[in-house]
Amino acid sequence: MSELLYGSTRGGERKVTASQAILKGLADDGGLFVPERIPALPLSMGELSRLSYQETAYAVMKEFLTDFTEEELKSCIARAYDDKFDVKEIAPVREADGAYYLELFHGATIAFKDMALSILPHLMVTAAKKNRVSNEIVILTATSGDTGKAALAGFADVPGTKIIVFYPRDGVSPIQKRQMVTQKGENTLVVGIHGNFDDAQSGVKAMFGDRALEKELAEKGFQLSSANSINIGRLVPQIVYYAYAYGQLLKSGAISDGEEINVTVPTGNFGNILAAYYAKRAGVPIGKLICASNENKVLFDFFRTGIYDRNREFILTSSPSMDILISSNLERLIYQIAGCDSETDAALMKELSETGRYQITPAMEAALGDFYGGYASEAETAAEISRLYEKTGYVIDPHTAVASHVYRAYRAQTGDTRKTVIASTASPYKFTRSVMKAIDPKYDEMEDFSLIDVLSALSGTAVPAAIEEIRSAPVRHKGQCEIGEMENVVKAFLKI
Ligand SMILES: *Cc1c(COP(=O)(O)O)cnc(C)c1O
Repeated sequence: MSELLYGSTRGGERKVTASQAILKGLADDGGLFVPERIPALPLSMGELSRLSYQETAYAVMKEFLTDFTEEELKSCIARAYDDKFDVKEIAPVREADGAYYLELFHGATIAFKDMALSILPHLMVTAAKKNRVSNEIVILTATSGDTGKAALAGFADVPGTKIIVFYPRDGVSPIQKRQMVTQKGENTLVVGIHGNFDDAQSGVKAMFGDRALEKELAEKGFQLSSANSINIGRLVPQIVYYAYAYGQLLKSGAISDGEEINVTVPTGNFGNILAAYYAKRAGVPIGKLICASNENKVLFDFFRTGIYDRNREFILTSSPSMDILISSNLERLIYQIAGCDSETDAALMKELSETGRYQITPAMEAALGDFYGGYASEAETAAEISRLYEKTGYVIDPHTAVASHVYRAYRAQTGDTRKTVIASTASPYKFTRSVMKAIDPKYDEMEDFSLIDVLSALSGTAVPAAIEEIRSAPVRHKGQCEIGEMENVVKAFLKI
C-alpha cells in the first residue's frame, strides 16, 4: 500500500508522515496538516455493517494513518475504546421522532470529544516512539469546555507527557468547570483565563508559532504538541463513527445498501463536520452535510454569502462548546474547495488574521454544494429540547438541540426527506440546568446536583459515572491568569 503523506494547507511544509503530523499538531507555517489525497475505504457498506466499532476504527484509520503498523493501530484502538465507554456499541444510534441520533457521549467525560481524545494519547506516544523522540511531550490546549476535560482524562498520568489546559474563566458551564478543576494526575495543569475562548485559542496558537520558545523548550527536554481539533490525530478517529453509523443503520434495516443519508452536526471549530465530509469523500453514502450553528452564526453566514466575518459580538449561549467565532478546521475545507491550492488558502488566512474577514471566489462557493448552513436561536434551542421530550420522552442536550432544530427546519424548507443522522455531541447531564429549564422553567430554582437527580427520574436514564465522580471530588486546580501571561504559566509549570 502506498504511503499517505500530509502537507500544510498553506504549502510551506515539506510533506510528513501521519505520525509526524500527529506529533507536530500544527505545521510550521501556521497551516493545518491535510492528507495529500482522501483515500477510498476498501470495503463495501455491507461488509462495514458487520463490523464492531473497534473493527470499523481499524478499517478506517489504517487508510489514513499508513505509517502505523497493524499491531500499533489495533493496540491503540483496544486501549481507547474499552470499558471507559458505558455501552458496548461505543457510539449507539438512537431513533427519536424520525431522526437518528448518533450518541457520541458514552465516554469518560460524556461529550463527543472523548471519541477522539481517548485514542489521541496512544497515537501520540506511539508516534513519538516511531520517530525516536526523546523529549517529553507537552500538550497545550485551549478549550471552550469539553475538549479540556476530555484531553485531561486522556493524557492524565500517561508517561512521557504533560498537559496544560486553558479555559475561559466565565465561558464554560458549572459542570464543565468542575470536571476540569477536579482533574487528577501529576502531569496536569488547568488554568482559567480572563478572556473568551478565542483569546485562549489565539494565545495557544501564538506559543505554537514561537520559534524562540520552541528552542528554549527543546534545550530543557520538552516539545509542544496539540490536542485541539486541528490535530489530524483527532480528525481521523472522528471519521470512524460516520462510517459506523451508516453500518448500524444498514444493519437495522433503516436504510438499504447505498441509500444516501444526510448528516447534521452541531458545529463550533468545524472538526466534527469536517470528519463527516472526509467520510463522504472516502465513500460513505452521505448526501448533505448540514452545519448547525448557535447564535454565533458565523458559519451560517459563510455558507449563505461566501464571506467569513468574525467581526461581530461574541455571544455566550447555552451551547458553550459552539461559542466560537474562528472555526479553525474550516481552513481545511477552504483548502479543498480552492482545488488544494495552498497559495489561495494562505492568502485568505492572512486576510482573516489581519482584518478578521475574507471572501471566497464564486468558483469556491460553487464547490460548497455538499453543505447547508443553518442556525438556532436560544429560544429555538430550548423549544426543541422541550418538544422532543414531550413527544418522545427522549432528552437531548443544548448542542444536540441546535442540530435537531436546524435539521427539522432544513427538512421543512427543502422537502429533502433523506434519513438523517444527527451528531449528538453531549449528554444532557453535562448541561443539566439548561436542559431542565427548557423542559420546565420551574427547575431553574433548584441547585445543580438536585437537578441531576430529577433529570435521571424524568428521562429514565442512570446518572453517568462522570457526574457521580465530581459530586465529591476536591478542587485541585485554582489557577487563573491574564491573556498575556499564558507563556509564563507554561514555563512555571515546566520549571524553566
Ligand atoms: C466541541 C463540541 C462541539 C463542536 O464540535 P467542533 O468539532 O468544534 O465543530 C459541539 N458540541 C459539543 C458538545 C462539543 O463538545
